[in-house]
Amino acid sequence: MPVGLVYDPIYLKHDTGQHVENAGRLEEVIFLLKQSGVMEQLTMIKPRPASVEEIALVHSRQHISRIQEAAKKGGGWLDADTVMSAESYEVALYAAGGLITATEAVINGEVGSAFALVRPPGHHATPEQAMGFCLFNNLAIATRYALDRHKLERILIVDFDVHHGNGTQHVFYDNPQVLYTSTHEYPFYPGTGSVGETGSGAGKGATVNIPLPAGCSDTEYLLVFQQIIVPVARRFKPQLILVSAGYDLHWADPIALMQLTTTGFAQIVSIIKGLADELCGGKMVFSLEGGYNFAALATSIKATLDVLLGNKDIEDPLGKSPRQFTAPSITPLIKQIKETHNLP
Ligand SMILES: [Zn+2]
Repeated sequence: MPVGLVYDPIYLKHDTGQHVENAGRLEEVIFLLKQSGVMEQLTMIKPRPASVEEIALVHSRQHISRIQEAAKKGGGWLDADTVMSAESYEVALYAAGGLITATEAVINGEVGSAFALVRPPGHHATPEQAMGFCLFNNLAIATRYALDRHKLERILIVDFDVHHGNGTQHVFYDNPQVLYTSTHEYPFYPGTGSVGETGSGAGKGATVNIPLPAGCSDTEYLLVFQQIIVPVARRFKPQLILVSAGYDLHWADPIALMQLTTTGFAQIVSIIKGLADELCGGKMVFSLEGGYNFAALATSIKATLDVLLGNKDIEDPLGKSPRQFTAPSITPLIKQIKETHNLP
């Protein structure tokens, strides 16, 4: 089955100046995908802007108007981390629309899986608030779209960005149809994502947080994917897997302290692909979240796409972390999470 790539130069127009989350990120990725020949193996999916009604599947009208008004005034800082320009409202509509387009293409079988190379990112945005570089929660909107418009009943979200996806967790906290799983550095921004946050009401148990100590490398990530993500996914039996794909857990990332390698990304993506093949006919959509070292981001997205395409040779030009620093043992943490979620 073909692998789709959502991309449009409009995503470069969200002008954040000297911010770490800037248009150069996507330019670097596109450059590497073209230069390596991966681009020509992908099926390009042209994004459309999401409608206000679609954004409102997740966000309040007040929040949507606030972003629109801020853009009309030329943009500016929304909080200490989050900045926008005059074009950002329109770009954010295309980012959410890109996720919807990718999700539709996968659900309708036009492509087997897809990667949405979009910005601004989304997983921190709550129904009422832009934060953490995010304006609208692209992946949450696409999830809600798939539940409402396509009548799916079980969607698994895997959020491997180094930050906890507080916005996505918030949106689906009481919803048993969406299993939200997140691996993230903890304690760290935005502060949420403890083991005890497991959902509420009918959604109790459908939020699985894996808060990891700084310094985790490929070994720890593979362990938590194999011992927690795989069994909870099998128990849930999703019809679709959506991935908040942040690459800021790479060792070279300037804003976090994890030590994943590009090879490690390929390995966790292989596990997710294995789950999708086993449980839902391979249907999965990746949405770009963080990742701020250009070389690490580009090589790791290429590795992700290589895995989706079934290419065997994974290039890892950056290699392993040069830091002499290891994470404390996560064995007690894995035990605690297994007990919390009744896993064998
Ligand atoms: Zn992040």
